[in-house]
Amino acid sequence: MTKGIFPVDKLDKIETPFYYYDIELLKKTLDIVKTETSKYGYSQHYAVKANANRTILATIAAAGFGADCVSGNEVKAAINAGFPASKVVFAGVGKTDKEINLALDYDIFCFNVESLPELEVINELSGKKNKRTKVALRINPNVDAHTHEYITTGLNENKFGFSLSSLPNVVKVLKELQYVDLIGIHFHIGSQITEVETFKPLCEKVNELQTFFEKEGFDLTDINVGGGLGIDYDDPNANPIPDFAGYFAIFNQNLQLKNKQKLHFELGRSIVAQCGSLIARVTYIKHGESKQFAILDTGMTDLIRPALYQAYHKVENISSNLPEQKYDVVGPICESSDTFVKDYSLNECKRGDLIALRSAGAYGEIMASQYNLRDIPKAYFSNKLQAEE
Ligand SMILES: *Cc1c(COP(=O)(O)O)cnc(C)c1O
Repeated sequence: MTKGIFPVDKLDKIETPFYYYDIELLKKTLDIVKTETSKYGYSQHYAVKANANRTILATIAAAGFGADCVSGNEVKAAINAGFPASKVVFAGVGKTDKEINLALDYDIFCFNVESLPELEVINELSGKKNKRTKVALRINPNVDAHTHEYITTGLNENKFGFSLSSLPNVVKVLKELQYVDLIGIHFHIGSQITEVETFKPLCEKVNELQTFFEKEGFDLTDINVGGGLGIDYDDPNANPIPDFAGYFAIFNQNLQLKNKQKLHFELGRSIVAQCGSLIARVTYIKHGESKQFAILDTGMTDLIRPALYQAYHKVENISSNLPEQKYDVVGPICESSDTFVKDYSLNECKRGDLIALRSAGAYGEIMASQYNLRDIPKAYFSNKLQAEE
């Protein structure tokens, strides 16, 4: 039996819970991103933090993308998975000396620098290794991403990047640092942005800043506008691939690149979210006073987004075609926030049924924890249904 995209008979033989990745969908998504970016000569660095599963990373690396990393371990994982160091960028507000040294030793493409003290430390550590290091300034453009406050990053109140008002002083310091070369400017305004028009004010800000840096005598070769494109959590079957054509077109129409400047993107969620599902079983059906609960063998430890951001993931009973009933779908963890959906219509559930939590490919497996001393679920792939060790 199959139901929707799921080979239920095969999945039924696997110990639950587990992450299931539709590799064909991932490859199709990567193909479309490649087609759309090559129209304009744009360059895409996959944001490793969305999903650093080894097979997922290797698949994306094999498609020719670069990597956007936010820790030393991500830099290491990306390079081990086949991303060339020359296509790795490294962001993050708290890079330690150890992480900076590691990235220097790998000769990554560029550091996206988020503060003056960080810039000075990169300069000093580069000097010790007698290297000149390429840096881009992460600038906080004070642009509202119109998304959940926990995933908004481009407002003045957020901790990320240089504020606009600090830039005159920053360029003064930059001119005195011997071991860093400013090659570009970098932005990332937030995540799960579904209205592509939201990126227009960012483009306008970039255009203004281009003039500022030119006046200051900097010849920027690289502009990086980060990631943030959202996906359709409500209807993953209807929209398995986001509107990449519309997204890149907004930048093409609104952002003015100078001669030979390269435009970089760092998409994460939009590349991997829809290819992943968390598959679990119903452990018990519990009848409460006014509700019935479907209690699963997976919980917030394996997919924390609903508990952390009040995020919605579509839930399906892939073992049943019985008439629908209403359930609160919950996990076994000792926290009330361990609830996936409430008053939710599912085909009638029985103990042992397989449940799919959809759109779990981004910020799912990578955020898994062992709270309650649970095992971290294994990952399985549509093209070879055996566990990754
Ligand atoms: C998280 C992050 C991204 C990716 O964001 P998505 O919403 O997953 O596309 C890109 N760049 C930086 C600097 C990030 O922190």
